[in-house]
Amino acid sequence: MTAVPQITLNNGQSIPQLGFGVFQIEPEHTVEAVNTALQTGYRHIDTAEGYGNEKEVGEAVAKSGLNRADVFVTSKLGNDAHRPDDARRAFDASLQALGFDYLDLFLIHWPLPTKYDGDFVSTWRTLEEFYRAGRARSIGVSNFQPHHLRRLHEETEIPPAVNQIEVHPFLTQDEVRGFCAEHGIAIEAWSPIGQGVVLDAPVIGSIAERVGKTPAQVVLRWHIERGDIVFPKSVTPSRIKENFDIFDFELLDGDVAEISALNKNERTGPDPDKFDMV
Ligand code: NAD
Repeated sequence: MTAVPQITLNNGQSIPQLGFGVFQIEPEHTVEAVNTALQTGYRHIDTAEGYGNEKEVGEAVAKSGLNRADVFVTSKLGNDAHRPDDARRAFDASLQALGFDYLDLFLIHWPLPTKYDGDFVSTWRTLEEFYRAGRARSIGVSNFQPHHLRRLHEETEIPPAVNQIEVHPFLTQDEVRGFCAEHGIAIEAWSPIGQGVVLDAPVIGSIAERVGKTPAQVVLRWHIERGDIVFPKSVTPSRIKENFDIFDFELLDGDVAEISALNKNERTGPDPDKFDMV
């Protein structure tokens, strides 16, 4: 199996372009699922305080026998911890739960523009502290729209290394991706297979048949060829392996365009401008 490509972030750090997401994996299933992923060859795990399984992710990494430095781990700030002092406590708690002394990447999970008087800027400045102290090797945001990113660009010093947003064939996110490309911010595509909803599209099925791969593999490959970072989630060992096995084939330029043309600006998750769950 060919190696997973590395993406170089705007601060020089590198991140494996394919990782493993653990949203909606129950804590009691997390060690086994992450263990299967690490044995398969994944070296990048995406968790969050809000997923309730940081402790088990840390446990799986520790048990794997791999060096901490060989696994890229991301976590995210809880929505209830945007105020600077709360963010400092939350960051310490995430490190403690994981059993790590640094995170590879730490993100503001949601901008929450209708909460905290719309102030995600002081939250970002707090993440800058973690970065300067070397406790977060990279920092970034999630679910930020261009107008949120513009505020960080104008009012803060360190640009986000990544913006983790919902992207899949039904939601190609041309505007946010365009803004991020212009500003050197890498895109992480969450729900890369739209939690399964995109897999029945006939265009994807016929490409899959031609290349001898599954619809999920074709969609993940589409993300890779567009340059985005992805971390599909599954607890099923055969799917964890299937989702990793996407580096021995290529799509034609026409395939990428045809899949992108499925866009209908359809979200499976919340609208970041409205989402306010704390
Ligand atoms: P996903 O697109 O990865 O879909 C996961 C679901 O698709 C699984 O539950 C399974 O039912 C199905 N599936 C997985 N592999 C399959 C295969 N090979 N064939 C058929 N079906 C398959 O969706 P997701 O879990 O929402 O997103 C992936 C990761 O993105 C998460 O685990 C999390 O790390 C991250 N995420 C981040 C945010 C955010 O706000 N930052 C939000 C959602 C998800």
